[in-house]
Parts: sequence; structure tokens; C-alpha cells
Amino acid sequence: MDETIVEDIKIVSEIYPFKTNNYVLDNLIDWENGIDDPIFRLNFPHKEMLTENDYDRLKWGRKNLSQAELSKLVNEIRLTLNPHPAGQTSFNVPFENGVKLEGLQHKYKNTVLYFPSHSQTCHAYCTFCFRWPQFVSNADLKFQSKELDSLVRYLNNNPQITDVLLTGGDPMVMGPKILARYIDTLIEVKSLRNVRIGTKSLAFWPYKFTAADDGCKEVLEILRKVTTSGKHLAIMAHFNHPAELKSDVLMEAIENLRAIGAEIRTQAPLLRTINNHSDTWAEMWDRQVQLGLIPYYMFLPRDTGAQHYFAEDLSTSLQIYRTAVQKLSGICRTAKGPVMSTLHGKVELLDIEDDVFYLRFLQHRDTRLTYKVFKGQASIANPKWLSDLAPMNSADQHYFEMEECIVEE
Ligand code: SF4
Repeated sequence: MDETIVEDIKIVSEIYPFKTNNYVLDNLIDWENGIDDPIFRLNFPHKEMLTENDYDRLKWGRKNLSQAELSKLVNEIRLTLNPHPAGQTSFNVPFENGVKLEGLQHKYKNTVLYFPSHSQTCHAYCTFCFRWPQFVSNADLKFQSKELDSLVRYLNNNPQITDVLLTGGDPMVMGPKILARYIDTLIEVKSLRNVRIGTKSLAFWPYKFTAADDGCKEVLEILRKVTTSGKHLAIMAHFNHPAELKSDVLMEAIENLRAIGAEIRTQAPLLRTINNHSDTWAEMWDRQVQLGLIPYYMFLPRDTGAQHYFAEDLSTSLQIYRTAVQKLSGICRTAKGPVMSTLHGKVELLDIEDDVFYLRFLQHRDTRLTYKVFKGQASIANPKWLSDLAPMNSADQHYFEMEECIVEE
């Protein structure tokens, strides 16, 4: 690989985490495409992810600063990148007797996100990841729980919660013994109906669910306990590109998961240089349906990290989504999009007409505001996010405001 590209990777990975593996290198990246390969862009940090100014400061700092001074600079830059978007640490973390329950996020009435301390890594890292602070060494930026008991107490005290999403990182980095602790505990919670696992392991390390992995049988048997207990097991799989949907080992992994009764739903953000073409999404959703997967969300990159580089503007994003679904039959059109996961909730962009943006919340902290259409107008040229829009009139104002309501009981 060209030395300048290697140097760029080193400079950018001062800020963002970088990790790859032999499955990604041997099966997913088409090296004939060079640095323009979408999976290379997805996995290897590149220069444009930093502003020119930050890139130059880091390049200079690596040559001229002491390790301590460089760490200070790195930390300073990280803090300008909105490491915790959508109020994750200030609004979403519940309390028990005045004590913050670290590693839990309760944003919507029925669903709790749980960040097991054992899953704060992934099989490989994505350059655009909005959870990038989870993987860098600064403990202040991390969000994780070491205590399963507090989750169980919280669930038992809040029987309106029907869904737990195990997330991270990637919970499927956990070995069978640790995974069993979480699953065995969750299936005992009576009010819980759906166990969701957010994972990119099918794309980055499908061996996890195949005979090639020593722990595979055990892992599948542990997961099977969810379905045999009468609860729904939802694998929230992350695929960004059709190139991730081709290997034989992936086919085997999907077959094994479906055989234990898991339902696999798919989601991904729309990203410049990786999947910003309607043909890419149409191919991806079509292929997923053929494999028995359910397309679920097309997200827009969150307002953190390298959003300035990866995000298309709202108008282009809508065009890509629409053109993609228009190419497909009805059963392949199940993905909602384009969707922004904001401080308020999940906002779907429905239409843009005469410079008016038509939107609705699919999820909101206040469920009374969901599924109602509201209108916005651009407050900057080429808006990319909800915060780049302003309410059209006073009736739409409250959709743009955030009051201190944590979760509606
Ligand atoms: S696999 Fe998921 S959590 Fe891990 S780096 Fe990629 S997007 Fe982030």
C-alpha cells in the first residue's frame, strides 16, 4: 500500500479507532478497486474524515510533540467531534434511587438499550461509527455497564418495557459463557417479550455462527433459549453494502440463525463513498429478502465524528431512498428511511416540496408526538440533519424542542 495512504491511516486513527480482520481483508475488500473500494472506505480510516486543520495539526503533532502533548491534542480534537450525540449520557440514562444506572439507555417507553461491559469492541471497526468513543481509550467517553443486576431490577420495576437491545460495540464478540449469563438472565424477566441483539458480526465475522468457530454450537444453543422461552429473538444486523452479502460462510450463518427461530432485520446508514447510490441499496435490499432477512432502516449518519464527510444532504438522501425502493417489489420495501436518530427520537424524512421538508417521528420520547407529520424549512444551505432545519410555523415548534422529559411512563 502507498506510503502516503499508510501515513493517513496512522494520523486519522489517532482520533478514530481502527481494527480489521482477515475475513474483511480476504472476503469483503476488492483490492482491485484500491482505496475507492467501498469496504476499504468502510473499514480503513482515511484523510478526508478529518478537517484539513485537524489533519495538519495531528501530522505536525506526531512529529513535534511529546506523547503526553499529543494525547492532549488528540483529546481536544475528539471533544470537538460531539462524542455523545443525541443526549446519550445526559438524557437517556435512567436513575435508581438517585443513582445513575451506567450502561443503560431508556429513551423510548418500551425499549431499553443495554451496553454489556463485555461487548465494548467489535470484530472490526467501521470508519463512520457513531459509537466511536466506545473504542478509544478515554474512559470519560465510554458508556458501559458491569452490573447485570441493575438491569434486571430496572426491568422488573418498569414492566412497560417489552424490549431489551443488547448493544455495544458488538455483543456477538462475547464468548458462550458470558453470553449465556446475559441471555439466561433476560429470559427470566416475565414482562420482556423481545430480545434484540445489535450486531455486525454477520458482515464482519460470520464464522461466529458456523461450524468454523469452536463455540458456534454453544452460541446457537444459548440463543435458541430465547425462542424456546417464547420470546422473540431479533438479530438487528448491520450490512452496509451488497459486497457483505455474498460469502458462503455468511449463507451458512444465516441458515443456522434462522433454524433456531431468530428473525434477522437489517439496518445501515447512507454513506458517501460507501453506499450513496440507489442501485447499491436496491441490490442490498433485494438480496437480503432473498436470504430471508427483513430490511428495517436506512439511517442518516449521526451528528458526530466524521458526519461532515459521510453525510449526503437531505434532498439527495431522499432521492436515493426513493429511487431504490421504486426499483423493488413491495416485499423488499420494508426499510424505513431516510431516518435520523436525534435527541428527540427517530425522524423520518417523508418528502420535500417547494423547499418545505415533511417529517414525522417514528419514535419520540413523548409517544404522543409519533407518526404526526410536521414541517420544517432549511436554516442553512444543503441541510444534512434535523438541527439544520427550523419549524415552518408555531404549530411545528414543539417538534424541534427538547424538554426535560426522559421517558413517558
Ligand atoms: S460494528 Fe457497529 S458498533 Fe462496531 S464499529 Fe461498526 S458500526 Fe460501530
